[in-house]
Amino acid sequence: MADQQSPINIIDRDAVQVYGSRLDVQWSRGVQRFDVSVEADGHRFHPHDRNSVRLGADQFHLENVHFHRPSEHWVDGARQEAELHAVHIRADEGVRLCVLAVFLTVEAGGGAEPPESFDLHALLPGDGSFYRYEGSLTTPGFDETVSWVVMKDRVPVSDARLAGFIRTRSDKARVPQRLNRRFVLSSS
Ligand SMILES: [Zn+2]
Repeated sequence: MADQQSPINIIDRDAVQVYGSRLDVQWSRGVQRFDVSVEADGHRFHPHDRNSVRLGADQFHLENVHFHRPSEHWVDGARQEAELHAVHIRADEGVRLCVLAVFLTVEAGGGAEPPESFDLHALLPGDGSFYRYEGSLTTPGFDETVSWVVMKDRVPVSDARLAGFIRTRSDKARVPQRLNRRFVLSSS
């Protein structure tokens, strides 16, 4: 059975308001370095620094960052321009994932080479409100092991090299999947 697949089209008015939902993003501030690998699905940026998120009681460590253009998640029927995925692995058991997604807007940028350093923290919206739901990887084998956190606010990419890469070399987007019996939670 595969009935908890990602991405989804998030309908804002159907999201269940949850107050005091705890998300603590502990990413390095400023420019940090990444090792770039090329997988079947596209480029993966593996951080040198320790970056973590805490979701509720669970701690996750950042394994890779990658980009989709157009976005994978839709909001109220609208596809977004681009989407960052920060894939975190649960610290205590290494199976469950937390993928933090940020919608990006990308002005014209320079070059297509994957940058080996950029400011990840600058891609986090100042407003920390988010949707969350339980879903899957969006690439084969689509494992249903992902707690998705989708930030509500869009962030413009101001780094010209990163913008150039995202415009020209981002991963493809999987089409939205059925919500089925799941709920989407809204942090505010
Ligand atoms: Zn992805």
